[in-house]
Parts: sequence; C-alpha cells; structure tokens
Amino acid sequence: MGRLDGRVVLITGAARGQGEQEARLFAAEGAEVVVADVLDEPGAALAAEIGATYVHLDVGREDDWRTAVAAASAAYGRVDGLVNNAGILRFNELLNTPLAEFQQITQVNQVGVFLGIKAVAPEIAAAGGGTIVNTSSYTGLTGMAYVGAYAAAKHAVIGLTRVAALELAGRNIRVNAVCPGAIDTAMSNPSLLDPERGRDRERGGDRERGGDRERGGDRERGGGDGGAALDAYYGKRVPLGRIGRPEEVARLALFLTGEDSSYITGQPFVIDGGWLAGVSVL
Ligand code: NAD
Repeated sequence: MGRLDGRVVLITGAARGQGEQEARLFAAEGAEVVVADVLDEPGAALAAEIGATYVHLDVGREDDWRTAVAAASAAYGRVDGLVNNAGILRFNELLNTPLAEFQQITQVNQVGVFLGIKAVAPEIAAAGGGTIVNTSSYTGLTGMAYVGAYAAAKHAVIGLTRVAALELAGRNIRVNAVCPGAIDTAMSNPSLLDPERGRDRERGGDRERGGDRERGGDRERGGGDGGAALDAYYGKRVPLGRIGRPEEVARLALFLTGEDSSYITGQPFVIDGGWLAGVSVL
C-alpha cells in the first residue's frame, strides 16, 4: 500500500530539482502524477520513466493552467492534489533591481501560486477534497539580502497559503507550505546542470553519494562541481552542517499531501537544517 494510492497530483516545476524528487516519490507511493514544467524535454522524459503524464505549463499564464487541468482530468478523471513548486531566483540589490526583473519573479513565484490555487481547487473540491502544498522558502519567513523580489514573493506565498486554507477548508481542501532553506538543486548550485554531472546522476552516482554526503564525503571529494564549496559554505552557517537534499523536501511534501497530516492546514513548514532557529554567538 502506497501512502498516495488513488490520488492524482499535479506538480509544477517537476522537470528537475525538488519537483522532480516529489514526482518520483509521489509516483512510488502510488499517486498518478502530472509532471508540469516549461522544460518540455526533461519533463516528458521523467514522466515516461515514472509512468506519469507530462503537461507544458508556464505557471504565470492562466491559459496554460486551464489546458493543464483539462489534460490532467482527461488522463485520470480528476485531480485531488497540487504541489505549487515552480520557482525562479535572481540575485540583486533592491536598489539595482529592474522593475521587469521584480515583476518576472513575482509572476512566477507569487502569481503562479495564486493561479494554481484558482485553477485546481475547484477540481479538488469536485473530487471530494484533497491537498495543496505551496513552495515558499526560508526567505518567506525572514529577510535575506540581495534576494528582495524573491523574498517578497515567498512571504506572499505564506499569506496565500493561510487565506486559501481558511477559504477552502469547507471544501475539504487542506493547504500548507514548505519553506526550504538551502537545498542542493540547480537553483542553488547551477553546476548541477552540467551534462557530465547529469550523466553521473543517471549512472546512480548521486544516489551512492547520498549517504556519503551525509558523512561529509562531498566536502573531501570536491570534484569541481560546486557541491564541496556549497557544503563548506552552509556547513558553517547551518546547524546540521550541510546543504539539504531535494529528496528531503519531497518527503515533507509527501507528508503534507498524505493522510499523515490530516489535521494540519494553513501552516508553513520550515525544512532548513536549523538555519532559522537562531544565531550562535560562538
Ligand atoms: P530548480 O531550478 O532546480 O527547479 C525549478 C523548476 O521550476 C525547474 O524545473 C523550472 O523549469 C521550473 N520553472 C521555472 N519557471 C517556471 C514557470 N514559469 N512555469 C513552470 N515551471 C517553471 O530549483 P528547485 O530548488 O528545485 O526549486 C523548487 C522550488 O523550491 C522553487 O519554488 C524554489 O523557489 C524553492 N526553493 C528552493 C530552494 C533551494 O535552495 N534550492 C530554497 C528554498 C525554496
């Protein structure tokens, strides 16, 4: 028995990173998964591999949402879960941030979540209820210099989550948010997009490295992929001493989508290795 047997869940930004791991885990737990992204090639390949359906969806476009929801319903008869995961990050000082950049980040990270709730909640209600998991961030709960537009949108995602939880509880829809700290994906470590590293992952290299990484192996290995530098950077700042893994965020999204969280709604869940807990004076 899988924890998501009988569920149909649409996951945005699922072609790679945290969304990819959520799609893999949800499918392994028995859900019918709709992989949605703007990266058509990797998205379709992932869907084929895990027995899911791929749809092209730019989360900032209302028309795309209509098409995606129709495709999901046509494939599986209903939708009863949504993970609003798609997001983009840009670094800039507030005073140097062009309006177009601020608006682009808002459109994807904030408007995308609003449109997702608006498009999918009626489907979930028609299915008798279900769940929505929004992806906020550590920066949705505190400030971080040089990511002003991103932090503003991620704060807004928590506001949207709370309001949606209040308004949708009567339709048997629970709405929560995940707030990851630093997670080892292309967003925090663009070198993961290196094709050679990608081939290594396919060969299972990364899976083997998982346990090794927990033991600090990546730090020694280096390998010029940015992983060692990231671990060293976060090792000093994060109480648990390392960057997080997308699989760990996927397990939190699974908890919030499945029955184990049946009495939880309207809450942000921080997953950051203790980063937000406070500062050390020593
Ligand atoms: P990622 O860049 O690997 O994945 C993001 C995915 O979103 C990509 O597949 C991308 O194609 C997709 N995407 C981007 N714009 C889109 C759009 N307009 N429509 C549909 N899909 C779109 O990064 P990730 O770390 O997996 O990010 C997943 C989520 O987690 C994001 O919302 C991000 O803001 C959030 N997050 C990440 C971190 C981190 O350290 N990696 C920390 C906190 C929050």
